[in-house]
Amino acid sequence: MLNEKMIALGTERSVIRELFEYGNQRAAIVGRENVFDFSLGNPSVSTPKSVNEEIIRLCREEESVQLHGYTSAPGAPGVRAALARSLRRRQGLDVEAGDFLLTCGAAAALTSTLHGLCNPGDEVVVLAPYFPEYKVFIEKADAVMVTVPADIESFQVPFAALEAALSERTKAVLINSPNNPSGAVYSAETLQKLGELLKTKEEEYKHPIFLLSDEPYREIVYDGCVAPPVPKFYADTIVCYSFSKSLSLPGERIGYILVPGQCALHDQVFAACAGAARALGYVCAPSLMQRVIARCSDETADLSVYAENRRLLLEGFRALGIDCVTPGGTFYLFPRTPEPDDLAFARRAMELDLLLVPGSGFGCPGHVRLSYCVSTDLVRRSLPVFARLMEHYR
Ligand code: PLP
Repeated sequence: MLNEKMIALGTERSVIRELFEYGNQRAAIVGRENVFDFSLGNPSVSTPKSVNEEIIRLCREEESVQLHGYTSAPGAPGVRAALARSLRRRQGLDVEAGDFLLTCGAAAALTSTLHGLCNPGDEVVVLAPYFPEYKVFIEKADAVMVTVPADIESFQVPFAALEAALSERTKAVLINSPNNPSGAVYSAETLQKLGELLKTKEEEYKHPIFLLSDEPYREIVYDGCVAPPVPKFYADTIVCYSFSKSLSLPGERIGYILVPGQCALHDQVFAACAGAARALGYVCAPSLMQRVIARCSDETADLSVYAENRRLLLEGFRALGIDCVTPGGTFYLFPRTPEPDDLAFARRAMELDLLLVPGSGFGCPGHVRLSYCVSTDLVRRSLPVFARLMEHYR
């Protein structure tokens, strides 16, 4: 009688949520400090002080009916203009206020874009390992997710496999760099090669292939690594951005879709994304948060805790013989499991109250994801637990 697919989505918890709930149960029994929960990608460093101060200032100084009222559907004009100025200055992109559509985070940016672009049966190519919600978002847009197996040596783009996955039905390729779960950051050379491949395929198939660049982790990079601006390498790029991670604001739901002027069918693409956001009932992005990011979009939360956690874990893994690609960004590590069955490995870790997410859910078995947005103390205390876990495999 009801929509069975939606009932299933609403009742089945994701593996990550399942682990998180399990962690809470175990914490009640063994004490919070004895549960090593690396499951959830919830930022653990504070929102920058300037963000909280701006919220307070706006509430004190601005006229409240307007501050909390609806904005125009794509966002307040002044906010869109501020974002355009920021990206022109920081990324050297040729973008205008009218290219931005403010959204409730990257999730709404992705669902609106996918619904706007796709007709039933269109294919969206995704590279493993990928954020598991992509499948939900793509299928809800009546499109088909085509998965490219991971290059597990580097987690960069496996070009031959990607080329084989492209077809006449490809509407878009969805990339995520810095990547959840691998942490990999695509280099300028990788993006250049990707842009060239897609351009060749557009000419062959005689229609645009959009490159959706999902970028919630753009600012979370280490050791001098930078995430190059994707539209510089391929004209038909649509950026889905979020402030959830860079400003530690995931519950406030703010991000944007950027359709740069250079993108094929620009006005139609923008209208389709706006139409999809309307049809999905988003109305407008949270008004107060729009005003906050107009002032604070160039800032980031203090990333030094993540950098220290990453260093400790990578050193610890090296000492224990845990094989892990050193990634350039995010707050995730994606080590190889010492047995091929990542679910079995994660279960064994769970017996030690060490909560790791199996790689199978990210389309990449034989790995586990650790989200190290936790306290540095917990990271330090977890290393002997990893050592006990690895003893089993000696
Ligand atoms: N894309 C990726 C790769 C993510 O990891 C996440 C959240 O964890 C999202 C999108 C959704 O982020 P938001 O909170 O901005 O909706």
